[in-house]
Amino acid sequence: MPIGEWFNKQKKLAPGNPNLEKRAVPDGVWEKCKGCNEPIYTKELEKNHKVCPKCDYHFPFSAQERVNHLTDPGTFDELWADLSSEDPLHFIANKTYVDSLDIARDKTGLNDAVICGTGQVNGRRVAVGAMDFGFIGGSMGSVVGEKITRLIELATDDRLPLIITSSSGGARMQEGMVSLMQMAKTSAAAARFNKSGMPYISILAHPTTGGVTASFPSLADIIIAEPNALIGFAGQRVIEQTIKQKLPKNFQTAEFNLTHGMIDMIVSRLEMKHTITRLLDYLEPRGVAQ
Ligand SMILES: [Zn+2]
Repeated sequence: MPIGEWFNKQKKLAPGNPNLEKRAVPDGVWEKCKGCNEPIYTKELEKNHKVCPKCDYHFPFSAQERVNHLTDPGTFDELWADLSSEDPLHFIANKTYVDSLDIARDKTGLNDAVICGTGQVNGRRVAVGAMDFGFIGGSMGSVVGEKITRLIELATDDRLPLIITSSSGGARMQEGMVSLMQMAKTSAAAARFNKSGMPYISILAHPTTGGVTASFPSLADIIIAEPNALIGFAGQRVIEQTIKQKLPKNFQTAEFNLTHGMIDMIVSRLEMKHTITRLLDYLEPRGVAQ
C-alpha cells in the first residue's frame, strides 16, 4: 500500500471522524427502516408495534409478538407447544433437516413454525394461530398442519371464532409429500369449520406464498393482508417464464391482490385488533351460546 494511501486510511479511522462515531452507536438502539431508509429509535419502533412511524413499513413480527398483539394480556393459553417434527425422509440438502430444526428451535424458542391456542380479543374468546417466518421460513410441515388442523377442529367443536395469521414460504420441502398433504388436511378442516357458521378471519402477513397460500389462509370468511405484504403461489419469475408474459411491477403485493379480488381488506397492524373486533361484532351469529 502506498504510504499516502496508508495515512489517508488512518485519518479515516481517527477519533472525531463522524463515520467512526456513527459506528460507535451500540447495537440495538437504532434500526434502519427498509421502507424509507431512515433510522428509527428501537424503543419507538417496539412501542409502535414494529411499524415505521415515518413511512408505515411493517417490520416482521414473530408468532409470539403476533399473539401478544392480538389477544388481551394474560388470556392466551398455548396448546400443543410440544409437538415437534420427525425427519421422515432423512432429508439432507446443504445441511440435514435435523440440523435445520435444531437451529430454528434455538433461534425462535419454538418447536415449530406456528403457535396455536385460545385467548380473548377485547373480551371475546377466540381460537388463534400465528405462523413464525423465522422458523424455516414459516414453512408448513406435518407439525404446522397438525396444529392448524387441531386448532380449527377445536374452534368447530367449541364454536369459537377462528383467527389465523400466516407468514410462510410454503410447504416444507424437507418433508416432501407429507408436507403437501397438510394442504388437503387443513383445507378439509376449514371446510368443516365453515359449516359451523362461526367466523374465520385470515390475516396474511409478509410474505404468504406457495402451498400455504393455496390452503387454509385462502379459505376464510374474511381475508385481511398487512400493507405491502407479498402474497402469491408461485414466484413471479416462474410465472413469467411459464406464460411468456411480463407481469406488472406490483404483482403479488397485497394491494394488487385487493384490486383483483383475492383478498378483502388491507389493514395496518396498528388498526388490526380494532378491525378484528369490529368484524367479529358483525359476523358472529346472534343468540348462539358460546
Ligand atoms: Zn420507514
